[in-house]
Amino acid sequence: MRELAVHYCPECGFYAFYQLSRNAVCPRCARKMTPLDMRYQDFMDLDCAQRDELLSRKLIEQSPLVARLLKPHRENNTREIIANLIAVIGRWKRSSGSWRPRTRSRRTRSNGCTG
Ligand SMILES: [Zn+2]
Repeated sequence: MRELAVHYCPECGFYAFYQLSRNAVCPRCARKMTPLDMRYQDFMDLDCAQRDELLSRKLIEQSPLVARLLKPHRENNTREIIANLIAVIGRWKRSSGSWRPRTRSRRTRSNGCTG
């Protein structure tokens, strides 16, 4: 039996699970839905906020206008990368409880960085 696959509507963001892509038609807008490049079980393991964020990013990526508007923002957006890394580290700390940063090597790095 074929595994369920996640599909979402690029028009309204509705998502549902189908075995066959040809059956994936949005019940709200009658538009053909797009398959999500993620396994069904991986999607099910996400909580509602994570699913919402993932699908929001997909919708943004598919919009040429939004992509053009975000381009300068992306090119000057180190803060978002740093914020995401801090969030990941926070999740590690919460999930393991015993997580500690690795002690820094005393050896000088070859690129001259001291920080
Ligand atoms: Zn729709």
